[in-house]
Amino acid sequence: MIINLNEAFLKQQNLVAFNFFNVETLAAILDAAKVENKVIILSFGESYISHTPLQVAAVMAKEYSKLYDIPFVLHLDHATKVDTIKQAIDLGFTSVMYDGSRLPLVENIKNTAEVVKLAKERNVTVEGELGYLNKEDGSDQVEVVCTTVEDSVQYVNQTKVDALAIAVGNAHGLYKREPQIQISRISEISAAVNLPLVLHGSSGIPLSILADAYKHGIRKINVNTELAITGCRGIHKYILEHGADSRLENALSEAKANIQASTRQFLKI
Ligand SMILES: [Zn+2]
Repeated sequence: MIINLNEAFLKQQNLVAFNFFNVETLAAILDAAKVENKVIILSFGESYISHTPLQVAAVMAKEYSKLYDIPFVLHLDHATKVDTIKQAIDLGFTSVMYDGSRLPLVENIKNTAEVVKLAKERNVTVEGELGYLNKEDGSDQVEVVCTTVEDSVQYVNQTKVDALAIAVGNAHGLYKREPQIQISRISEISAAVNLPLVLHGSSGIPLSILADAYKHGIRKINVNTELAITGCRGIHKYILEHGADSRLENALSEAKANIQASTRQFLKI
């Protein structure tokens, strides 16, 4: 069953969103969720559309929901275009993220409020973002600016989002040094907005710190890089053992096994 973010929070206090973009990533994540008996979020980034069309991602998720008898959220990650959000909602996505974090606050609020209006009519939940992290693939390493309590209160009150992604020392991609997550800032924002907070860039943050973040107001963490890398490692290992003149499906099975194992680690937090 595909449910929205609020319905998932009713079933489970804390959630993990894992990125998928093909059959292997999708099935590996669902395998792990089934074994760990957890509600998860299947997250498809707007940036993946060049790899897998949005309608294909939606059909894959819907068909897999019939094969796996477990509830999950089908989420559109980091959508910067309202058009992509409209398409995703029409295709059956139950949750969307509007990422206006690069825009001035007033413009971000205006666009997010518009997204919330059209999503609510379709029982779709909306995640917003405040505080620019860096690109989703981690390629531009900007200095992370922490989200402020003041901006958060204004943004949440004026947009009525269901969840808020914040920048508190986290970043997308690989961390160059151990990330310094501002737990106190998470607490302050959580107390002020009383809304589920989202931590992007959770790959590479020690699991103990993620557990601490959950205790202080984070209720959704996003994992992408870790799965992407462990999948590649599986393929690399397979090729080292069997040579490059191998069967692709076997190499992908190795990637899938690694992704499933990594997903399970995050679900044990
Ligand atoms: Zn993100």
